[in-house]
Amino acid sequence: MSENCIFCQIVNDRLESRTVYEDELTLAFLDVNPLAPGHTVVIPKAHIERLEDLPTEQMGPLFEAVRRVTDKVQQAMKVDATTIGINNGRAAGQAVPHLHVHIIPRRADDGGGSLHSIVHSNGPLSLDEVQRLIQQVFGA
Ligand code: 5GP
Ligand code: ZN
Repeated sequence: MSENCIFCQIVNDRLESRTVYEDELTLAFLDVNPLAPGHTVVIPKAHIERLEDLPTEQMGPLFEAVRRVTDKVQQAMKVDATTIGINNGRAAGQAVPHLHVHIIPRRADDGGGSLHSIVHSNGPLSLDEVQRLIQQVFGA
């Protein structure tokens, strides 16, 4: 538990939320400022800031919860599509520093775009160079 974290406060019942799913390691609740009806966030109960910090043994349970909640939310909202994503780090738009997976119900006529509409800032590096840089880090 991180004292100043609003999602930790939700996990510990110090702040109200509209819970839709809970298990031993995971909590899912409605986003207070939904981008679409049924917009839900799924979080690990432990205070983990970013995806890279999530212990391997919690990765499976978190994404199993994402899968289950996605299925139920789609049924409840009567949609057959969702955008699922993580704002991973401040520069990516992460406002709450407690890892959370957004599940956003989507409709063909909702006026929104795909993940490809988020950013268009590809620089001068070729795909060869980018691949080499990433492989170097893996090899380090
Ligand atoms: P982020 O930008 O960090 O990926 O998203 C944080 C999300 O948490 C936002 O969509 C915001 O609406 C939601 N949020 C912020 N504070 C609260 C809160 O107190 N309760 C709930 N249910 N959602 C919150
Ligand atoms: Zn937290």
